[in-house]
Amino acid sequence: MNPPIQDFQYKISLGQNFIFDEALLSSLVEQTPLKPGDAVLEIGAGRGDLTLMLAKKAGQVIALEIDERLEKVLLDRFSRLDNIRLVMGDVMKTDLGALMEPYGVFHVVANLPYYLTTPILSMLFRTSLPVLSVSVMVQKEAAQRVLAKPGTPEYGPLAVMAALRGRPYETIQVPAACFTPPPKVDSAFLVIPFIENPLLDAGEIALFERVVDSAFFMRRKTLLNNLMKTFNFTRQQALNCLSNLGIDEKARGETLDLDQFIALYRQIKNEIN
Ligand code: SAM
Repeated sequence: MNPPIQDFQYKISLGQNFIFDEALLSSLVEQTPLKPGDAVLEIGAGRGDLTLMLAKKAGQVIALEIDERLEKVLLDRFSRLDNIRLVMGDVMKTDLGALMEPYGVFHVVANLPYYLTTPILSMLFRTSLPVLSVSVMVQKEAAQRVLAKPGTPEYGPLAVMAALRGRPYETIQVPAACFTPPPKVDSAFLVIPFIENPLLDAGEIALFERVVDSAFFMRRKTLLNNLMKTFNFTRQQALNCLSNLGIDEKARGETLDLDQFIALYRQIKNEIN
């Protein structure tokens, strides 16, 4: 176990729950689809322990970290390694396309700052960048939302978008005590290998996401009502979209699986054009 950083005030607002246990970090890296020599984007380097573990296997690690107080520690720790590039910045404001362009295809690995779990995963699920896989530590409940099946309370846009881009699975659950400081929740490590041939073109994702968001907009309302509201459809227009697919007019969005969402997206695209 690596000792904690001296006198460091962890910022809970930045989701700073670090992992120092080398055995755990090593097993996390082993659970990712990362192959020797591959490029990895790490979101939130923290004190750099996961980064260093990734660098043992990866060809190149690009580590992003927002907290300027960690820059010196990280530069010191990475100074003897030429396959780690540290970038100080906010992942939500960084041009990841420009950042990752020199490395071609890449994996994303992170012990995520939990306050940004949904925005970061949503961004990765809609990206047109050549992502091979996303392997992330998340709050246990967030893992359930990514893995949720149709008709369950956890099923929502995150599960549909995850299924569109990859084949997500959970590898291990990690108790709060494995983190410094321990968060209030237990965690799970999710691995999402992205599918090689995307089911939709990059230019189609925005409208697809709108259709999915609309389906879950008001969970207690019917899909028909939600579609009318979002797309400004008449009842007949919305009905046509559903009946062409054999979907009952009283159906709720949460009952649709990925294939039905893709088919619905195509109907709506036709109806709009
Ligand atoms: N990778 C380290 C580890 O496993 O011990 C740290 C993980 S910690 C859960 C999350 C890290 O993300 C923190 O270092 C935090 O400062 C950083 N972070 C928070 N918000 C961020 C953002 N918007 N962009 C980049 N990094 C961020």
